[in-house]
Amino acid sequence: MSKRTLLAEDGLYDYVLAHSLREHPEQAALREATRSHPRAGMQIAPEQGQFMAMLARLMGARRAIEIGVFTGYSALSVALALPEDGRLLACDISDEYTRIGIPFWQRAGVAHKIDLRLAPAAQTLRACLDAGEAGQYDFAFIDADKTAYDGYYELVLQLLRPGGLVVIDNTLWHGAVAHPADSDDTRALQALNAKVHADARVDMVLLPFSDGVTLARKR
Ligand code: SAM
Ligand code: CA
Repeated sequence: MSKRTLLAEDGLYDYVLAHSLREHPEQAALREATRSHPRAGMQIAPEQGQFMAMLARLMGARRAIEIGVFTGYSALSVALALPEDGRLLACDISDEYTRIGIPFWQRAGVAHKIDLRLAPAAQTLRACLDAGEAGQYDFAFIDADKTAYDGYYELVLQLLRPGGLVVIDNTLWHGAVAHPADSDDTRALQALNAKVHADARVDMVLLPFSDGVTLARKR
């Protein structure tokens, strides 16, 4: 899986990073700490973390959801963009992965903004709905198991306020979505891409950025 911007050749990609990337030192350190992890390819690209932080700031987001934390780079990026009293509900099933990120969240001074829930994300999101939190979130990032994306999209749409934003990761799936499906993941992403494109509940754009990033704004 590509974790960098798909369409840029190496020299241009390096130029973009050199002229755009602004990382907190703990973001750089967390990338370094994740580099040797066997699943390091799951981490979002740094320019994507910066982009999502920009979106969260532009929206004045206070309450955010993340589905798929891994070692915590995207959570750190968004948490840094939230106000002091902002909250990120961070959903993952792996203590092994997420525990790697917690010291970096602490040193960056944002651990108090991150509410990590270790449980299947659909269960956590349903519990939020049961607790009466529909319409209370500003921003959501979907980046966990691809075959469950459609369910996450539906749950998150209920939790977002009108004007709230869903960011869906890997919607180009290293280019595989443009070809006959080679896996359940590809099939799931193709179906969701078609659904979001036709979905009158949202304004949307599929950006050919990173591994494909879809923005869907709840109407
Ligand atoms: N956003 C992360 C980052 O920037 O480093 C990468 C997330 S990684 C692609 C996907 C994560 O989804 C893994 O950490 C995995 O444990 C988690 N995951 C898989 N199935 C899940 C489920 N049913 N509920 C919650 N998290 C799940
Ligand atoms: Ca991803």
